[in-house]
Amino acid sequence: MPQWFIRGLRRGVVTTRYPAKPDPSARDLPGPPAFRPGSLTGVAADALVQICPSRALTRIGDVLMFDVGACTACGRCRERAPNAMAASGEFELATAARQALIKRIPLLADSEASA
Ligand code: SF4
Repeated sequence: MPQWFIRGLRRGVVTTRYPAKPDPSARDLPGPPAFRPGSLTGVAADALVQICPSRALTRIGDVLMFDVGACTACGRCRERAPNAMAASGEFELATAARQALIKRIPLLADSEASA
């Protein structure tokens, strides 16, 4: 049985020291992806829009709209296009403005992909 669990039972403390002290388990939490601007073509972005189960991705012209608030950090898009994004490591996403969670990722023209 984990020591932290037994310690918590003894002390009656069931929470961590977060946010005063980062919780070490945060390193292992899945987080939303961080897209690299200009690394996706429209065709590749369309494929990501299709596989995103939470509809966090939509394409508007030459921009991929990423709703971080809708992302469930499933990782499907990273599996499909690993060179276009990385793990963001972010999980503290609280904001007073919903729009702050909408990211705009500029896309490459499909003809630029091989250049
Ligand atoms: S991690 Fe999953 S939910 Fe989030 S944008 Fe990628 S495919 Fe969509």
